[in-house]
Amino acid sequence: MLVVHGTLGETVITMEKSANLRRAEAAEAFNQHENRSDAERVISSLVDGFNVLSNTLYRRVHSDVERIFGMDSMLAPISLEQSEKIAKLEIELYQMAVSAEVVQQHGYITGDSDWYLKWLIQLRLGVDQSGSKADKRLAVYMARSPRQRQLLFTDVLAKVVATSRRTPLVLFHLVSLAVEIVTAQAFGDSNAAAEARNRQIDYLPAIRDCRECRGGILENGEQCQQCGNPLWKFDWLMASD
Ligand SMILES: [Zn+2]
Repeated sequence: MLVVHGTLGETVITMEKSANLRRAEAAEAFNQHENRSDAERVISSLVDGFNVLSNTLYRRVHSDVERIFGMDSMLAPISLEQSEKIAKLEIELYQMAVSAEVVQQHGYITGDSDWYLKWLIQLRLGVDQSGSKADKRLAVYMARSPRQRQLLFTDVLAKVVATSRRTPLVLFHLVSLAVEIVTAQAFGDSNAAAEARNRQIDYLPAIRDCRECRGGILENGEQCQQCGNPLWKFDWLMASD
């Protein structure tokens, strides 16, 4: 059984700074840049929301596919450990790109999204990524339209995690919108979150049928045990086909 613990920053990136110190620094920088005092809340919300999406998405494209289709991920050209590491970094970069676009679009922060993106990289990856491979990948995502960005992300995941090719395509539409919701909620914009949820419902009307959550928007970091909201379980995704 594969259980994914901790955030990407904690499990993948090796660095001297502790996660707590990193968050404290990010909070200070945010409050200063935005002339606000609630950075702790914004950061907790973003981090909790991103962690649930990242861990759940990896589970959906990997162990859920194996369980349902009996596909053996050991057939992949790289080791499982390596592929998890690369996939989680790619998920992280994609989340950042989508989040930065939402922040820019809705004017959640002062100025353009460049500052936010740099700040988010520090917060999530924990080191100065200027000129790094991750930084370059992020620039590729940022230069694309939302649709092209999503296609690229889907492609990269398919190469890294062979099983993800069996994932219903709707998952990738849902995850992009889920990142929008996490970001909108962290910045207290419930209207934008509700609007993104409505677009998810257009893709997957069955979302509303869950007896537990009724397809409602959960707090960032929460997850419905029944349907998997904010990233639905496989049998729910299949309802779209
Ligand atoms: Zn539910």
